[in-house]
Amino acid sequence: MSGIEAPPFAFVAGSTCLDFANTATRDEEAIVGESLARFEDLISWGVSAHILTPVDAERTRAAARERSQDACAALARAVALREEVFRTFAALAERRPVAPQGVAALDRAQRDAFAHRALVADGHCFRWEWDGGGTAFDGVLWRVAESAAELLAGGRLERVRRCAGEECTRLFLDTSRGGGRRWCEMRHCGNVAKVRRFRTRHGDR
Ligand SMILES: [Zn+2]
Repeated sequence: MSGIEAPPFAFVAGSTCLDFANTATRDEEAIVGESLARFEDLISWGVSAHILTPVDAERTRAAARERSQDACAALARAVALREEVFRTFAALAERRPVAPQGVAALDRAQRDAFAHRALVADGHCFRWEWDGGGTAFDGVLWRVAESAAELLAGGRLERVRRCAGEECTRLFLDTSRGGGRRWCEMRHCGNVAKVRRFRTRHGDR
């Protein structure tokens, strides 16, 4: 991935799996910006997404230095899942048919994630706990897989959108009251479109 620019992490999608899908920028099918070039980036994303605590992240980074091949393999699995998430939800956003093998891959990922989740009693409360206690190399992947499955089966698919920005490929979940959100970020893509409309109206180039 050397030579490909790393865009900063953005959390604008309103959904963990879509924010994860947005960690690459694309030109049509080709990836032209990669935020997850190293396993370390995946862990940093997990902290920014509030999936990992900073303490877990530090422990995971230390373990990854000892087991760099395993860490590389975990990064490859996470990026492969990201591409399935992107393809599936981009198709849904554009009302195109969804590839059955993509759905099968997401299903395999959520089954695998579920197999690593335990229900833990804590006094009168209960919570989910993940294998490895936050330091598993696949921890971020499991949470993304869970998020994708919940979004697919959650009955809000008609609100999955692709940013209307001309050069933007970000996906998001439109949670606005009227369902009329068009941009990933108003201050970015929304403003670019506004300026373009202004210039067109005023005969500027
Ligand atoms: Zn955008």
